[in-house]
Amino acid sequence: MSGSTPSRSAAGAAALCVTVLCGGLTGCATPRSDDGPRDVRVVDISDEAAEKIAERVAAYLPKPPTGAQTVIIQGTPRAGPPSPRREIAGGARYPSPDPAVFKPVRKVARDRLRTAAAKSVDAALAWLASHQADDGAWYAAAFSEQCEGAKCSGPGEPTYTPGLTGMALLAFLGDGNTHRTGEYAETVRRALRYLTRIQDAEGCFGPRVSQHFQYNHALATLAMVNAYRLSESPLYEESAQSAVDFVQMSRNPYVGWRYGVRDGDNDTSMTAWMVMVLAEARKAGLTVDDEAFRGALVWVDKMT
Ligand SMILES: [Zn+2]
Repeated sequence: MSGSTPSRSAAGAAALCVTVLCGGLTGCATPRSDDGPRDVRVVDISDEAAEKIAERVAAYLPKPPTGAQTVIIQGTPRAGPPSPRREIAGGARYPSPDPAVFKPVRKVARDRLRTAAAKSVDAALAWLASHQADDGAWYAAAFSEQCEGAKCSGPGEPTYTPGLTGMALLAFLGDGNTHRTGEYAETVRRALRYLTRIQDAEGCFGPRVSQHFQYNHALATLAMVNAYRLSESPLYEESAQSAVDFVQMSRNPYVGWRYGVRDGDNDTSMTAWMVMVLAEARKAGLTVDDEAFRGALVWVDKMT
């Protein structure tokens, strides 16, 4: 959405203010004379909003441009000092904004988003690490036993602990930690030790008690395969390969997977998880039978 309202300008001329409401962003294009410089101040930039303001500002400026113009782009966060002014001269960018002109705006936006995202990831990993049990698991129902002070709410289904541990472990691996490197190396090491401890002789992670144990197995395998891939440590090769072998052994001949081991039943979500596991396993250099991918495609074809 956009709208224009007159407001004061340094030179006393009517300013054209462009408001991009959906981006939470305001910018003013201030004509100081018919063909003089224009001021564009961009407030509280988000990446998406920066794109929008670029389009909006260009739309409000005269076409064709009248003489030499200068657009000053200056990001102004709601809190904190404004970013450095960037002056862009010339009118060749119209009618559509030249990406190079607005690149500095987008860069500021990206940097700001990156900082916000990094802070959020840091906080999330710290929370996860503080709720890991001593044996390395994230207990779906009992994680609040680890709380210091007020107890966190939201207990889950206890049978999903192996899968939950796999997911939490994936978060740390995704942030670049391995059992040897990174701030959370010890967290990763303990989680991997837990997973290898609950792996049975056929390679399955966790007991086959829940109807959905294959979800647990898929997530735990994804984590183990990635731990092996990232660290290239022989410590985890056997566990990862044996987990992948269990995935392959469970598949219904010529088709996909569901909740059992070759039980003749197929399911799209389970098949998708298993294909993801096998694709990651192949990237990790583990032994994967291409026939599994063909079978999964047979199932997807059937369902579409
Ligand atoms: Zn807590």
